[in-house]
Amino acid sequence: MFHCLHFAALPLCTATLVGNLGAIPTRCTAIPLSELARRSESVASYEESGNVGRLQGKNLQVKCRHNSACYCLNGVNIYGQCPVSGSAGHLRVSEQDWHRVLVPLLSPPPIAPIRCVCIDPGHGGSDPGSRVASLGLEEKKLTLDIARRLQTLLEMRGIRCILTRKTDEFIPLKNRSMAANHNNCDLFVSIHFNAADNISAEGIETYILPCQGMPSTSRLQNVSGKDREFFPNNRCDEQNLYLGYCLQKELHRIPMTKDRGLRRGRFVVLESTQCPAALVECGFLTAKGEGQRIVNERYRQEIAQALCDGICAYGSIASRN
Ligand SMILES: [Zn+2]
Repeated sequence: MFHCLHFAALPLCTATLVGNLGAIPTRCTAIPLSELARRSESVASYEESGNVGRLQGKNLQVKCRHNSACYCLNGVNIYGQCPVSGSAGHLRVSEQDWHRVLVPLLSPPPIAPIRCVCIDPGHGGSDPGSRVASLGLEEKKLTLDIARRLQTLLEMRGIRCILTRKTDEFIPLKNRSMAANHNNCDLFVSIHFNAADNISAEGIETYILPCQGMPSTSRLQNVSGKDREFFPNNRCDEQNLYLGYCLQKELHRIPMTKDRGLRRGRFVVLESTQCPAALVECGFLTAKGEGQRIVNERYRQEIAQALCDGICAYGSIASRN
């Protein structure tokens, strides 16, 4: 059984971070970049305009931008909840984002060894997902294709895999997380592809469940009813963040892919999963260049390899715990 911790119960002071990290405040309070530099033993600096700030430490590079909730951490885009505030040359990061986004990534949480992964090929049967007829692309077929490739790669590394579907069949969303729970899986990864009316929309994004009280990335600061609920998967908040970061980091390494970032979304397949879980959107079928690349089998193998590498990078932390 995976050892999950409730976010609030996690010790925030760790070996790699110094100073008084404090408790997460209930209201959005902002901390100067210079104070975060002190807490993380790094150096704060600004680009000429003063609207882009950086923290630079031994193993740490954070870039943030005024009025944006997207942080670039060691080259990976990660969305927080509150846009960076303050004035040019005096940026301030919200205490929530510091604790919920940056601290868990700067100091990896306790992670159990990965023995069994639940791979969830999105859609299936009467639910085809997105389609681009001109390229012959159908999301339900592509997700199963990636899932099978990923299964082969993980099994070569000695990791057992459970697939929520092995054929073109309809599986209710709740049954997908139940498959992970009933088989005591150590990780759950749901595979999808994106589509948009705007053909210039492209890139890869990874989703994890928002923390309790945190809205989905698309709504940023507007907290609504469901945002206040605690879901079983919230026990894995810190592990989810680290898993999402590892997956997005490896997916972004694929040549020509745009990093759309690690985001938060209350997807049904994530809510009830008892192990760390992420949902990956492996590209836009509707994007001119990306759609063409997805048609190519070798490109899909690269996606599967990146997912395998991300899972193994996440699992490698277990041996260091
Ligand atoms: Zn989908």
